[in-house]
Amino acid sequence: MTEPVVFRWHPAEITAITPATPLVTSVRLRCTLAEDYRAGQHVDVRLTAADGYQAQRSYSIASAPDGSGTVELLIEALPDGEVSGWFTQVAAAGDTVELRGPIGGSFSWDGPDGGPLLLAGGGSGVVPLLAMLRRRAQDWRAIPAALIYATRTRAEAIALPELERLAAEDPGFALHLAVTRDPGGKRLDAALVADALGRTGPPGKVFLCGSNRFVAAASDLIVAAGVAPGLIRTERFGA
Ligand SMILES: Cc1cc2nc3c(=O)[nH]c(=O)nc-3n(C[C@H](O)[C@H](O)[C@H](O)COP(=O)(O)OP(=O)(O)OC[C@H]3O[C@@H](n4cnc5c(N)ncnc54)[C@H](O)[C@@H]3O)c2cc1C
Repeated sequence: MTEPVVFRWHPAEITAITPATPLVTSVRLRCTLAEDYRAGQHVDVRLTAADGYQAQRSYSIASAPDGSGTVELLIEALPDGEVSGWFTQVAAAGDTVELRGPIGGSFSWDGPDGGPLLLAGGGSGVVPLLAMLRRRAQDWRAIPAALIYATRTRAEAIALPELERLAAEDPGFALHLAVTRDPGGKRLDAALVADALGRTGPPGKVFLCGSNRFVAAASDLIVAAGVAPGLIRTERFGA
């Protein structure tokens, strides 16, 4: 029996690799998988060392499908991280890895799914939500959207200039930053959730992504604000 395409490993060449924030690296990969995925989905990445040792991890796709034949991953360097350490310190354009996917049908969005969209991401958990916002910006700006983004500091926030530009030029999109470590930063609390819901109106789709702790906290606040739990889709990056 032939394996379904999603379970097969595909070679992927790094076409560009650049720092996105002090901790996060943007990795562009050319791969056949880039032809057919939905915003919000992730891929498994497999590295193979010269001695045959293999390591594999999941990474959300940050790009929206754009016909370029490439996908962007945004990978945060974790202390002593085996795979994130390789991408952020060792990998170079021209290197080849393997990808499997796309994975995660229920944590994905495209315009025909409708809205309004309420998104909440903590740290690198913003990555699949960024893909959804990039997809919305391509063709679906009429669908109201709000992003609640919890980050330790503004300097560590992924794609902040892009998100702030979008919020400034698109009245249908609101960005609500919760900054935990900068002096004077707002907290993720009921008031922030009320602000976001005030901009979108009752949401039709809610996507939450980040650490277990972030997803639990955001989910509790959003349900307490009156959103039906059945609308909420979550993805947890671990820890
Ligand atoms: C569906 C999904 C999508 C993901 N998408 C992204 C993404 O877009 N960008 C991204 O940077 N990461 C993402 N992750 C996390 C990623 O899969 C790895 O867990 C992460 O890169 C750590 O792998 P590592 O090999 O570098 O660290 P490891 O060598 O496995 O661990 C090193 C240390 O970091 C700790 N650790 C491991 N994972 C995490 C974590 N997620 N958070 C905090 N501490 C951790 C370990 O306990 C250990 O102490 C995603 C995870 C899932 C399940």
